[in-house]
Amino acid sequence: MAEGETDEEYLDRRDAQYERLLSYEPTTIADYAHQPDHGFWGDREFERKFQEEHSKRAGNYLIAYPKVARLLRRGVVRCPTRGCFLADVFLFPLEPSGERTLALTNLTRGESRTSWVNWEYSDNWHVAPIYLPASCRHGSARLPLGWFEEIVATVEGWKHVLHTHEEVYARLPEELRRGKASRTFHPPAALWRPK
Ligand SMILES: [Zn+2]
Repeated sequence: MAEGETDEEYLDRRDAQYERLLSYEPTTIADYAHQPDHGFWGDREFERKFQEEHSKRAGNYLIAYPKVARLLRRGVVRCPTRGCFLADVFLFPLEPSGERTLALTNLTRGESRTSWVNWEYSDNWHVAPIYLPASCRHGSARLPLGWFEEIVATVEGWKHVLHTHEEVYARLPEELRRGKASRTFHPPAALWRPK
């Protein structure tokens, strides 16, 4: 809080900043993934809500522009029973360099959920979401955000500098190894709850 500011003034200022940042229309794809310096670092409620809405804006953009979505998509998650769509994982370019991963899941009731996977928080333990729910009429799963990052690493062939690709590949969990070529993945068996 700024000096001499009442709680109410603080919340008003916070709301105004939230509205201002989210009403800004990105002009490039990299803009969609850019994490602005919002000035409310340490306010967990603000950080959580801001990331959620910020990722939703990027998800809506991809839903509106399927051609861009195809370019940015790195993997699809499907249900193990009938192959229903459960989630997409995208890689957005960042300026001047780097990438940001976006996970988008589908729920039976026609909703979708989004989250940036690699997003900065003041306190990862208490603010960062750890999973996104996904479901179809055959079952449901809570998909860990870290797992989406592993999908991207698998598809992109990212590896630790000390390991060869073969070593990394041999060590991958079964469900990631199988999905690598087709870029289609199934939730880890331990997480899938059939109906
Ligand atoms: Zn299904």
